[in-house]
Amino acid sequence: MSYDNNNVFAKILRGELPCIRVYEDEQTLAFMDIMPQSEGHTLVVPKEAAATLLDISPAMLAATIQVTQRVAKAVKQVTGAPGLLIAQFNGAEAGQTVPHLHFHIIPRRGGESLRHHASETADMAQLQALAEKIKAALI
Ligand code: 5GP
Repeated sequence: MSYDNNNVFAKILRGELPCIRVYEDEQTLAFMDIMPQSEGHTLVVPKEAAATLLDISPAMLAATIQVTQRVAKAVKQVTGAPGLLIAQFNGAEAGQTVPHLHFHIIPRRGGESLRHHASETADMAQLQALAEKIKAALI
């Protein structure tokens, strides 16, 4: 998959579109998914222009998965969800809709089915409140 500089996460990384941020460092950014599949659905993206897992440099991949683990711990603590789905799609045929590498952190609770992928936009005030709690829980 070739890299499209105008994909939505590239715009978020350049500050051209807003996001509800939970964590940022020199290599990565984590923010709330605006169409969460469950409460607490968070995304982690590298700051490298890589469309898929196959395109990114090993060092940036390492940084991104380490931040994914760190943010996932905070998401689990805040949501109280007993399970976490960590998902990552490579290519439209595999279900990828935004062509910039990202890891999904999706809380899973017993008996709860996931909302459809990228379907319903969440209440922004609720997402913001959740993001503040996740930020505070980051260690
Ligand atoms: P993919 O299908 O590429 O793995 O997932 C893309 C994810 O990005 C979906 O879960 C979708 O809800 C989310 N998403 C799409 N557009 C935006 C946006 O503008 N802002 C945020 N925060 N998430 C988005």
